[in-house]
Amino acid sequence: MNVLAINCGSSSLKYQLIDSETESVLAKGLCERIGIDGRLTYQKAGLEKEITDAAMPTHKEAIQLVLDALVNEKTGAIKDLTEVGAVGHRVVHGGEKFASSALITDEMIAAVEECNDLAPLHNPANLIGINACKELMPGVPMVGVFDTAFHQTMPEKAYLYGLPYEYYEKYKVRRYGFHGTSHSFVSKHMAEFLGMDLSNSKIIVAHLGNGASISAVKDGKCVDTSTGLTPLEGLVMGTRSGDIDPAIMEFIAKKENLDIAGIMNVLNKKSGVQGISKLSSDFRDLEEGMNNGNELCAAAIEVFSYRVAKYIGSYVAALNGVDAIAFTAGIGENAPLVRKKVCEYLGYLGVTLDEEANGHRGEDLVISTPDSKVKVCVIPTNEELAIARDTVALVK
Ligand code: ADP
Repeated sequence: MNVLAINCGSSSLKYQLIDSETESVLAKGLCERIGIDGRLTYQKAGLEKEITDAAMPTHKEAIQLVLDALVNEKTGAIKDLTEVGAVGHRVVHGGEKFASSALITDEMIAAVEECNDLAPLHNPANLIGINACKELMPGVPMVGVFDTAFHQTMPEKAYLYGLPYEYYEKYKVRRYGFHGTSHSFVSKHMAEFLGMDLSNSKIIVAHLGNGASISAVKDGKCVDTSTGLTPLEGLVMGTRSGDIDPAIMEFIAKKENLDIAGIMNVLNKKSGVQGISKLSSDFRDLEEGMNNGNELCAAAIEVFSYRVAKYIGSYVAALNGVDAIAFTAGIGENAPLVRKKVCEYLGYLGVTLDEEANGHRGEDLVISTPDSKVKVCVIPTNEELAIARDTVALVK
């Protein structure tokens, strides 16, 4: 079956058409600047990328353009839309309602809408994509795959904050965790790759992208993760602060004359390695800056790596040990320098890095030495494939 995996943001939409039998990507691309002007990127497997400017007043036109591109006579990946067997949608927040992926029905949509105030920027955009697909592809089964679902197995001691309990009772304020599709995919895939028994394993996954999080996975189930009610908590990220003393918010608000929205904007968009370096959120720029003697770039890389190592240490405590650690996502897969710096803090665990193996990028790799007490791997994430797999499992 061919599955169209869709990841809909407020002004963008990423898509992949995946043949679920061979798990190969037939075509992929993205729509950008939806509601502004509109640009479609489309790439059929084996061909060059095509980029076209095309009006996309709403997500509906964007999805129509994607469907037209998929069946285009010359470069289409399929002949007609009956060849799309199902659609899998990424949905950011499933609250406590969804502990796994779910078939999209009217009741399911209503339940997702009830989670909207937990993710006011993301969930409404995801729902717009779902509704547009319902209109344009009536009768095609659709599945929602939640960023939060994998983390629903966390115990109460990991998800409750030290806040008045009534906020949990009244508003469901608790840790949810994000990037769950990636943490789930990578933990399973690493166990397979290493020939480990997932049902008897202690795994830590470091998903280090522009957004970043770490999770502790015991016997295949998540027991803790670093993002919280929102994706702002935890690691220092591209532009997000991660953990800070909450009192800093009041202090800076007074000094800089900012309201809550202004402070949230700083913490989400102007902080992280971008804020520290004053230069960029991208590790390629930071490494180049550091190599050219820019001390703030060097500081940003140090702060980022140290925070990752501290979280790994705390999750070794949560798991009472660790068998294997995975690095994944843009930085985890492509920045040997960060992996090296993180591993240097883990000597007490008996981690030893194979420097030569660590020099490789972007493929399944063991980067620890054969005598390392803990296996350390690079495992490229593939959220679209995970969405396609869940979709097929639910519609079959
Ligand atoms: P997201 O999905 O959260 O946008 P990604 O997982 O795509 O993020 O990661 C993007 C980040 O990965 C970039 O901002 C950059 O910091 C990092 N990155 C990508 N390629 C490289 C590279 N070759 N070397 C170092 N860092 C890289």
